[in-house]
Amino acid sequence: RFPAPYRGRFAPSPTGPLHLGSLITAVAGWLDARSVDGQWLMRMEDIDPPREQAGAAGRILASLEQHGLHHDEHVLWQNRRSNAYNGALAQLQHSGLLFSCSCSRREQGPGGDCRGNCRLRQTGISSPCALRVAVPPDFTSAWHDRWQGPQHWPLGRRITDFIVRRKDGLYAYQLAVVVDDAAQGITHVVRGSDLLESTPRQHLLQQLLGLPAPDYGHLPLITDSLGHKLSKQTHAPALVDVDATTNLRKALAFLQQPSPPTEVTEVDAVLTFATTHWAPEAVPHVMSIAAAP
Ligand code: GLU
Repeated sequence: RFPAPYRGRFAPSPTGPLHLGSLITAVAGWLDARSVDGQWLMRMEDIDPPREQAGAAGRILASLEQHGLHHDEHVLWQNRRSNAYNGALAQLQHSGLLFSCSCSRREQGPGGDCRGNCRLRQTGISSPCALRVAVPPDFTSAWHDRWQGPQHWPLGRRITDFIVRRKDGLYAYQLAVVVDDAAQGITHVVRGSDLLESTPRQHLLQQLLGLPAPDYGHLPLITDSLGHKLSKQTHAPALVDVDATTNLRKALAFLQQPSPPTEVTEVDAVLTFATTHWAPEAVPHVMSIAAAP
């Protein structure tokens, strides 16, 4: 379906510095790309200023460099992409499935769904309302996930109309990621399985926008000893860049990859070894700090 070569990407949100969980995702994606001589692109998901932390984007990029995870081409900054996102919204409007929703937070259902019959009221998309995509009741998304196996999501029955532009005018992740995966020519997506449920929504948007769907692989989440996802929200500690080699070794151990011989101490040498030995099928189903290698 794709003209070779492999093009992967890493798309952090600058809500805090890189931590072990995000390093594992970056390492897996980087190795997956480099092991087939593919490219690995960078995208900064800076579309949600209220959630961002000043300086985090620069810190993340510097950290990745320190860990030898160099990227190809220039960084794509989502906050400079409004024209592309507006173009996609206009296209969605043509499909007749875009509607504006004036439900307040209190009026929305528990899953943040629209309960006010907004779909039936025709408001222009320039009004200060959230914009949602109406999910066709018969829409099903199915794919073979690299790590989560066969997926079958009868979306129309399982999820409600989702937001593509928020009431405050900010673009939703689902819209931006689809537009940018296509703009960067991404063929393979490697990310955490907290985003598994997003993939069916992204499939729908790709279909409506006439964009190709990349191949998806959702890595198991890394959890703390209590089974909570390791994330910036749960205050996972920032990586110490001077310990890059140790951090990489830890990431490889979590991914159950062969460890480079102890005499290998340079980050580039660790990564060269890991690229040659990359075994995606060895990635475990569960990664927990409690069972830290
Ligand atoms: N920005 C998301 C994150 O930091 C990743 C989005 C994606 O890979 O599609 O978890």
